[in-house]
Amino acid sequence: MEQIISAGLEELGLTGRVPKDAPALLAQYGQMLLEKNQVMNLTAIRDLEGVARLHMLDCAALLKFCDFEGKTLIDVGTGAGFPGMVLKILVPSLKLTLLDSLGKRLDWLSEVYEDLDCMDSITAFHGRAEEFSAPIKGYRDSFDLVTARAVAELRVLCELCLPFVKVGGRFLAMKSTNSDQELEDAAHAIKLLGGRMAGVEDYRIPGTEVVHRLIIIEKVAPTLKGYPRRWARMQKEPL
Ligand code: SAM
Repeated sequence: MEQIISAGLEELGLTGRVPKDAPALLAQYGQMLLEKNQVMNLTAIRDLEGVARLHMLDCAALLKFCDFEGKTLIDVGTGAGFPGMVLKILVPSLKLTLLDSLGKRLDWLSEVYEDLDCMDSITAFHGRAEEFSAPIKGYRDSFDLVTARAVAELRVLCELCLPFVKVGGRFLAMKSTNSDQELEDAAHAIKLLGGRMAGVEDYRIPGTEVVHRLIIIEKVAPTLKGYPRRWARMQKEPL
């Protein structure tokens, strides 16, 4: 797995920009994922190469489009740590917050970052995004960056994620390339929640024909009071 990751990082043009031990650490993380996946539902990908490419390199590709150095980042619906943990391994100065509504996954992730022994500045919260971004919690309009992969349809995702982003910061939504309709549908939500479309970047995952998409939304105004709404309401009446 280490070799595939190393070659993939090179193909992405990231060698020299990431720590030397990053491929080894990502491979160790991938091994732990596959082992734990036998007893806990963490990923549908069950082979070493798939994990290396479709998890590690997919997430690593974000470094091509955004500077993560020293930034605060919350990964919403992180699951088994994607993309948050991969970004942290590649950019150790990142101040990472992991958020997920499933506590067991976060418990496992805390074992991972203790084992990798290089993971300072990580905070993990068990909870729902729409509750954590309430003004009273202190996380609203406060992160430089917010990431999410495979969590919800873009309109709903914007309501979950944009409230966390500080003005001038960015929300990075990882999507497939057949998200054109989602993008169109989300235009109103993005504007209402204080965002502005800043870019759509398609990239091929090294060693595959898979092309994924990064949607970059800039925060230009604080999110209005009243958002995010309750989960059931968001689902029933997406913005
Ligand atoms: N981001 C990871 C990835 O790409 O592999 C996990 C994707 S998994 C399909 C979706 C994750 O989002 C689950 O772990 C789920 O518990 C979490 N999730 C869904 N809705 C959420 C919410 N409203 N707040 C926090 N976490 C949520």
